[in-house]
Amino acid sequence: SYPIDVAAIREDFPILDRLVGGDVETPGQTDDDTEPLVYLDNAATSQTPRQVVEAMSDYYYSYNANVHRGIHQLSQEASVAYETAHDRVAEFIGASGREEIVFTKNTTEAMNLVAYAWGLNELGPEDNVVLTEMEHHASLVTWQQLGKKTGADVRFVRVDDDGSLDMDHAAELIDDDTAMVSVVHVSNTLGTINPVADLADLAHDHDSLIFVDGAQAVPTRPVDVQAIDADFYAFSGHKLCGPTGIGVLYGKEAILEEMEPYLYGGDMIRKVTYDDSTWEDLPWKFEAGTPNIAEAVGLHAAIDYLDDIGMDRVERHESLLAEYAYDRLTEFDDVEIYGPPGDERGGLVAFNVGSVHAHDLSSILNDHAVAIRAGDHCTQPLHQKMGVPASARASFYVYNTFEEIDALVDAVDDARQLFG
Ligand code: PMP
Repeated sequence: SYPIDVAAIREDFPILDRLVGGDVETPGQTDDDTEPLVYLDNAATSQTPRQVVEAMSDYYYSYNANVHRGIHQLSQEASVAYETAHDRVAEFIGASGREEIVFTKNTTEAMNLVAYAWGLNELGPEDNVVLTEMEHHASLVTWQQLGKKTGADVRFVRVDDDGSLDMDHAAELIDDDTAMVSVVHVSNTLGTINPVADLADLAHDHDSLIFVDGAQAVPTRPVDVQAIDADFYAFSGHKLCGPTGIGVLYGKEAILEEMEPYLYGGDMIRKVTYDDSTWEDLPWKFEAGTPNIAEAVGLHAAIDYLDDIGMDRVERHESLLAEYAYDRLTEFDDVEIYGPPGDERGGLVAFNVGSVHAHDLSSILNDHAVAIRAGDHCTQPLHQKMGVPASARASFYVYNTFEEIDALVDAVDDARQLFG
C-alpha cells in the first residue's frame, strides 16, 4: 500500500483548500480568487498543520510567560514547554540530550553562530575550510566572509555534471590543515543527497570538524546526527511544518562546552559582576535574551506531527513524487533538469524550459495557480557553474499529490506553447 495517507494529511492543512488568482494587496483575500492552489514551493517553506497552530495558540491563550525567570506557575509551565521542546528535538535527530540542542532563528543563524563563536577564535591563515560547490549562501557566504576575517583558505569540492560530489576531489582538498568541512546534506537546488557520513570520516581522519546543513534533510528523511558523526548539524523549523523564527543548532556537547558564547545578555549567564561574568550551562549559554518560546512549542508539535506519519514514510513519498516529476518533465525535450536521476534525489526538481527565463515560467505557472520557486535558490555560484542565471524549482512535501505534479506539467506545457 502507499506509504502515507495524503488525503487525510491534507485535511490538517486548511491553506491547501485556498483558491488563488486574486489581488495580492490584501493577503489571504478570497473574494476574487478562483483557482485551487497547487503549492510546490516546500523547499522554501512548508505549510503548517492545525496541530502546530493550535499548540501555539494554546501557549498564547493558556501559559504565555517568560521562561527561566519566574517562580510563578505560568512561567514554570512555559519553561517546562520550552525545555521539553529541546528534549524532543534531541530525540528526533538522535542527539544525546538537550545540552546539544541550541535554538536559533533559523539554519542561517546556526551557521553564523558556529562561524563566529567557533571560527573567529579557532581559524587562522594556516587553516583551511572545505565547502562544496553546491552550498547554500547560508554556508557559502558565512565561511567565505569568515575566511576574509581570519585569513583561512576557503575551498570548494567539485560538483560533477550528474550533480554528485566528486569524492576524490574531496579527499584531495581535505588535508591536515583543514579545520572545518561544511557540507549541505540534501542540496536545495540539485536535490543531491550527499554522503555526509563518508565526509565526516574524511574530516575526522584529518582532525577537522564537520558542519552539516540539514535544512532540506531533516524535513524529508530520518536523520541521526550520531550515526553521521556530525560535529554540528543545523535545520529550520519552518521547512518541517513548524513556524518561522525557530531553527536548531546541534553540536557535540564537548565542542559546545569549549566554545565562547555568540550573543551576550540575560538568560545565558550564571554570575555577573561589574568586572566579569560566567556562563550558564548548555544549551542556555547560547540562547541569550528572551527566546522563541511559542515557536519552540510549535516546533515540538511539528516534530510530533511528522513522527506520527513516520519519517521513513515521508522519505518514501518524497522520492516517489520526485521520480514522477522527473519522469514527466523529461517527456519534454526542451526541458533541462539539474542534478541526479529521478530515483536518486530528494523531493525537488530544478529545471529550465528552453530559453524561457525561469521568472517568466514561474509567472505563467502562477496564472495556473501553481506555486514554484524561480531564481538562484541562494546558490548563485552553482547556477553560474551550470551556465544559467536562474532555474525553476518545484519541491514537494507530505501533502502533495501526483495530480498536483500533473498540474505542474500541464502548466509547463502551456508555457512552452506560449513561448513557442
Ligand atoms: N540551507 C539550505 C540547504 C536551504 O535550503 C536553506 C533554505 N532555503 C537554508 C540553508 C537557509 O535556511 P533559513 O533561510 O531557514 O535560514
